[in-house]
Amino acid sequence: MGSLDLTGRVALVTGATSGIGAATAALLAQRGAHVLVAGRDSSRGESVVAAIRGRGGKADFVAADLREAQSVRQLARRAVDLGSGRVDILVNNAGIYPFGPTEKAAEGEVDTVYALNVKAPFHLVAELAPAMAERGSGAIVNVSTVVAAYGAAGMALYGSSKAAVELLTKAWAAEYGPRGVRVNAVRSGPTRTEGTAGMDEELAALAAQAPAGRPAEPEEIAEAIAYLASDAASFVHGAVLPADGGRTAV
Ligand code: NAP
Repeated sequence: MGSLDLTGRVALVTGATSGIGAATAALLAQRGAHVLVAGRDSSRGESVVAAIRGRGGKADFVAADLREAQSVRQLARRAVDLGSGRVDILVNNAGIYPFGPTEKAAEGEVDTVYALNVKAPFHLVAELAPAMAERGSGAIVNVSTVVAAYGAAGMALYGSSKAAVELLTKAWAAEYGPRGVRVNAVRSGPTRTEGTAGMDEELAALAAQAPAGRPAEPEEIAEAIAYLASDAASFVHGAVLPADGGRTAV
């Protein structure tokens, strides 16, 4: 039967210097993976790595700005080098979530949101999934949001970028699944992270619409990601798993 254990796997987690990504890096390492912690901020990255190593886990920091395709491709190559030739698990977590009226979004903001939230996962999968498919195994987990599932005023740009990620999840499951690569997504609800610090009112208002009635802790989203990344999810392909306190069920 499948197991949550990840001993011997190499996992690349983007946006792992903070929030959901940092919690995911910690959990994957606790379950035995060698975790490659990607982000721009080296001091935050090194402290995530030091905490993992301090608990006896294996981790390395890889700096990369994912707004540029070239730097995304470079991250993939460095990850393969650090992973002694392979990456078994890819978690596409790095993302930005600016909210506001459509008419206030600058052209550059539209480009940046799509570059980080959509194009970076696209290029990372293009770089890493073919080798997983050649080996006949691998797991990719994309991080989405409840506002990809329904229309919310002020969230057109962000929600549409993650709706693209959810469709990519299914398309990649169709493309790579037959060769042993499982591709899934976690649809997160409002979560307390460094990125949402100072947004307590917005988080509470969003959370109030869900059965759980509270925002998530990043560790709760990490549990869903780690499950999909593991053999415990061996028959799960192309799923978008809500970890949203029930928001999209009601
Ligand atoms: P966060 O605390 O703001 O952290 C964002 C991460 O992305 C950081 O590690 C940051 O690292 C990285 N990042 C940002 N810009 C980058 C760039 N240009 N290049 C490379 N890395 C970059 O985020 P979070 O709240 O944990 O959210 C993580 C994911 O969950 C996002 O995809 C978000 O859309 C999704 N999500 C979050 C919530 C929520 O309520 N928090 C809800 C639903 C979905 P550096 O600063 O080191 O570059």
